[in-house]
Amino acid sequence: VAKNAGRNCCRFFSQDMQDKAIARISITNDLHDAIDGQLKLYFQPIIDMVTGEIVKAEALLRWSHPTRGLIQPDKFIHLAEEAGLIGRIGDWVFTQAAAAALRLGNVLGMPFQVSINKSPLELSSPDSLPELDWLAFLERLGLDTSSIVIEITEGLLLQATPTVNERISLLRRAGIQFALDDFGTGYSSMSYLTNYNVDFLKIDQSFVNCGRDNTAGKAIAETMIILAHKLGLKVVAEGVELAEQHDWLRAAGCDFSQGFLYAYPLELDAFEDLLRQRRLR
Ligand code: C2E
Ligand code: CA
Ligand code: CA
Ligand code: CA
Repeated sequence: VAKNAGRNCCRFFSQDMQDKAIARISITNDLHDAIDGQLKLYFQPIIDMVTGEIVKAEALLRWSHPTRGLIQPDKFIHLAEEAGLIGRIGDWVFTQAAAAALRLGNVLGMPFQVSINKSPLELSSPDSLPELDWLAFLERLGLDTSSIVIEITEGLLLQATPTVNERISLLRRAGIQFALDDFGTGYSSMSYLTNYNVDFLKIDQSFVNCGRDNTAGKAIAETMIILAHKLGLKVVAEGVELAEQHDWLRAAGCDFSQGFLYAYPLELDAFEDLLRQRRLR
């Protein structure tokens, strides 16, 4: 902390800031160890709104810390990025998600899509070209590339460099699908839809889930569904918690949906059990 700020630098920091800084450093140290054995991938069902069946899953990362318990990704992804560990974590997520897609597809007897999240930094870091390794991994696994969906946010597209664009188009040409995540939360969502080819649009939960009497959110979500369909994209609603929300989204023509109403993110074994029942609504 503030190494160059002089000998008395610490007086500029409150106790609270110091505590936070120490916790941060210790978490980052632990993260190096975590990559071997403490990361866990959870899977949240995504249902087809017409049939009510589970047709896909979103892979969500957790860190099962030996003393701090289960840590949510919002708490450590940025630390992993700063520590230069995000590449290795991203590779691990990719391979686990692909293996899960294969296993769940075998359970169903038909292809099963698993989506993974990529933070803005992950695809823009210039030092590695993991996509070729990923494609080779899928080939060795015998998994069709269309079983993997990569969820990107507008943050990524905002910083889009030639590298990011090349990577996205290389993966797309190879058959990997893309979803624009958290749609509507950025400030120029519309223009990105014309500049980037994605397969799915995910309506951010803030439009779905702000109470029972959510007139503005509803109007925006309904308009997004119409827009996405005009552009040939499928729509996934996230953060669906109430039956009312399910009902209006379904009536509005939303294609897929996920949220606590149907299921929480689950470990793979529990997901597989649920998948055998398939129908959630
Ligand atoms: P996201 O991609 O927007 O993921 C959706 C988040 O909403 C997840 O939080 C999920 O558990 C939560 N959620 C699902 N259904 C509901 C619901 O009905 N109500 C509410 N209130 N929340 C719901 P989670 O798992 O804590 O993940 C947070 C964020 O961390 C994700 O947001 C994603 O951006 C990021 N993330 C997760 N896994 C990874 C990963 O493997 N790599 C990277 N780079 N980022 C990840
Ligand atoms: Ca996501
Ligand atoms: Ca999201
Ligand atoms: Ca989010």
